[in-house]
Amino acid sequence: MARKIGSRYTAHQILGRGSAGTVWLGEGPEGPVAIKLLREDLASDQELVGRFVQERTALLGLDHPRVVGVRDLVVDGNDLALVMDLVRGTDLRTRLERERRLAPEAAVAVVADVADGLAAAHAAGIVHRDVKPENVLLDMQGPLGPGGSHPALLTDFGVAKLIDTPRRTRATKIIGTPDYLAPEIIEGLPPTASVDIYALATVLYELLAGFTPFGGGHPGAVLRRHVTETVVPLPGIPDELWQLIVQCLAKAPASRLRASELGALLRQQLPLLVGMPPLDVDEPDEEPADDADASPGPAGPAYDDPAPSPDRGAARRGAVPLVRGAAPDSNRDTHTSMRVPAPDELAGGARGTARAPRAAGAPRPGSARHRAAARRRRITLGVAGAVLAAVVGVGTWLATSGSDADATPQDAETSAPAVP
Ligand code: ADP
Repeated sequence: MARKIGSRYTAHQILGRGSAGTVWLGEGPEGPVAIKLLREDLASDQELVGRFVQERTALLGLDHPRVVGVRDLVVDGNDLALVMDLVRGTDLRTRLERERRLAPEAAVAVVADVADGLAAAHAAGIVHRDVKPENVLLDMQGPLGPGGSHPALLTDFGVAKLIDTPRRTRATKIIGTPDYLAPEIIEGLPPTASVDIYALATVLYELLAGFTPFGGGHPGAVLRRHVTETVVPLPGIPDELWQLIVQCLAKAPASRLRASELGALLRQQLPLLVGMPPLDVDEPDEEPADDADASPGPAGPAYDDPAPSPDRGAARRGAVPLVRGAAPDSNRDTHTSMRVPAPDELAGGARGTARAPRAAGAPRPGSARHRAAARRRRITLGVAGAVLAAVVGVGTWLATSGSDADATPQDAETSAPAVP
């Protein structure tokens, strides 16, 4: 069923649906195009339409081989449409779902492409703000690159910024997955180019591991992990590649690499990754999907929990409503449809658990093997504790002047090692 969009374009068939609208395969004066028709509620918002028109020059001006070009902006009656270059292929989410995780060479090649696209955008003063696998398109007609990867292009530039206003987000009660959100956004700071680097490093981790570093469970728990937790190393990952990820996931935006640096450093890694199989990592155990109702009361050690049931695990990967009683959202929106949670929402929900990936074959928490190991650890810890107590007691007795017994807390915020 063909549909006219403005006077110059015709939309023929739906290519995909996203958070902001529906993408159609269309035809324009210069040939085939992709047309993103924004959702009706967005298109009827006069303020939003005004902002789209204002940003028109920036949106149309971004011309780079690793960015899906916006060719035109159509405001026609109730339609608000972005006319884009047509990418014949699939998005990175679809590939990841099919392959579960990518070989390091392919993952790095894809992310280096996206970093190049981001570098061009950042140089033009544009922050993407919604980097995630859904917004990376793989051009199946392009030449095969390192690791057998097709060229990757970043799409949806500027859309997150235009749609994400306080007025709109206050009214929005659904939250999607906040897996790619930089900590400074959660803390309410204005997003700079560094938020894209954080999100892209999250994507790289996800391509390698099959899961995001801080995702899982209640969105409040995910947000808290972004702000407070340190990323746990992936077993088997080459050290230099890991250092890049760690640096780009630094809590402090200024500690992260710039997009151009990240692209160049990733490409340097490519020859070292040739032929390396996908990492053999198991996803960390799921937190219960009903965490939204869990009280934050004193949590026992994780290894004393009963083994999680498989269906709980299946429920976890999708987005979970932050607001109790709201319908779960399956479309993996990020902050385009997210409001900043209130402090009490951040405080509640799941326990703040570091999602430590297990090397394949390591005992799963809750298993008999794991519980036995935990018992052994408790006994060892008990003995160690008794010895420590005795030593401290003797120390205190000997040195009444009050020695500095406090361990310096490790600064997870800024301790990201520099890339050599
Ligand atoms: P989201 O809003 O979730 O980021 P989009 O609305 O950008 O998603 O895209 C939805 C789907 O439409 C994509 O997953 C992709 O399959 C398809 N698509 C988007 N842009 C293009 C394009 N320029 N060329 C071809 N297909 C596209």
